[in-house]
Amino acid sequence: MYLQMTNIYVIFFVFKVLFFHFVCDGAGVVLGSVFGMLLRYIPDLSPNALMLISFPGDILMRMLKMLILPLIISSLITGLAGLDARSSGRMGSRAMVYYMSTTIIAAVLGVILVLGIHPGNPKFKTQVSTASKDQEVSSLDAFLDLIRNLFPENLVQACFQQVQTVIKTVSVPVQNRTEPMTVSQKKLEFKWGMNVLGLIGFFITFGLCMGKMGDRGKVMSEFFNILNEIIMKMVSMIMWYSPVGIASLICGKIAAIGDLEVVAQQLGMYMVTVMVGLVIHGGLILPLIFFGVTRRNPFTFYSGIFQAWITALGTASSAGTLPVTFRCLEENLKIDKRVTRFVLPIGATINMDGTALYEAVAAIFIAQMNGIELDAGQIVTVSMTATLASVGAASIPSAGLVTMLLILTAVGLPTQDISLLIAVDWLLDRMRTSINVVGDSFGAGIVYFLSQDELMTVKIYGHRVHDDVKSHKR
Ligand code: ASP
Repeated sequence: MYLQMTNIYVIFFVFKVLFFHFVCDGAGVVLGSVFGMLLRYIPDLSPNALMLISFPGDILMRMLKMLILPLIISSLITGLAGLDARSSGRMGSRAMVYYMSTTIIAAVLGVILVLGIHPGNPKFKTQVSTASKDQEVSSLDAFLDLIRNLFPENLVQACFQQVQTVIKTVSVPVQNRTEPMTVSQKKLEFKWGMNVLGLIGFFITFGLCMGKMGDRGKVMSEFFNILNEIIMKMVSMIMWYSPVGIASLICGKIAAIGDLEVVAQQLGMYMVTVMVGLVIHGGLILPLIFFGVTRRNPFTFYSGIFQAWITALGTASSAGTLPVTFRCLEENLKIDKRVTRFVLPIGATINMDGTALYEAVAAIFIAQMNGIELDAGQIVTVSMTATLASVGAASIPSAGLVTMLLILTAVGLPTQDISLLIAVDWLLDRMRTSINVVGDSFGAGIVYFLSQDELMTVKIYGHRVHDDVKSHKR
């Protein structure tokens, strides 16, 4: 039991608030789905009506996104400043081992399911529209882009842009020929979207250096601590609005999708495969790993992160859900802030079990739709590149579809077939994002459990923090 309040009234109040959010957020999802289904019966629902239905949800997304930058900065700096280099190194390694192993397990599970269920049928392929061929990127380019982004050349620019390798076709003049020749050239371009990886790299280093300064860094640490508290208060305020926003997001999406029957016929088994995989991973494998390591009830843990799970379902963005994940782990489950502040921003950026599973299933599904039999080597490549692609995927809606290019090019599958999957991505994206968030949360719980000794002995500016940590222990 994580909730350890001595005062019975406080416990009662916490339960009341938890219950309120539990019921309201759940009701938001149910009502949003029901109204969305009903709206589908209205013929010719105008784009303006759809826009108005989705509007409250759009505002929720904007509010959550607004908090990401100050939250990442303040949490990483204060989290790292509260740890010494040894503890943060150990905690970081534990988190990395957990992230990598669970992501690989998810990708392999996806491969096993898609090979077992075999949802892809070449018969359906001709009926689905295909888009023009995309430019291909290699796994090496994608990997180097990850490293480049880890070291942004301009910190301000990293708040809204990241670097990406693109392949451009350019005309070059040739000697003795009047016609120029067209060749493909690799170029680095900046694309819109926060470079979270770069910010994480910089602010981890910043926090560590600040922590080393001892008392001289105290003012700075206080500043970021207070900033973090203010942001978390804002998150609490937003949570009162979230049921409305989530209902609107889900309702708008369901009302806007095309012909459900056609989609269900063509992609039904593919959706079932992804969903079964996500349920097994999130409902069985992750809780078992958590129980195996901590010997604590994973379902108590689940009830603590319910709100984050629902928010991920509504927003389809792990970064957008990050403020809520923080709140659930710190307030409901009483996980030490030095752990959540350190591991959650990293987890939300690189640990995406749901995405890895989804991408592995989708890539092999595309092969099956094209009647291509993959050999054992290609299947191993799919599992490995799905892991890498999930690390590289941004924590925003449908990012997984983009990094799918990497897997498809690695095994030589037609990249334009990604457009086959767009019709159902609105739903699968939400589901995989919710598992991404569950994976990050269990990761924080496991790292917290394994790091208790270090947390107990770490000094913050000369003071031992026994009491703080003891209060979090069972
Ligand atoms: N939407 C997912 C996330 O934010 C990424 C993906 O598209 O798989 O975690």
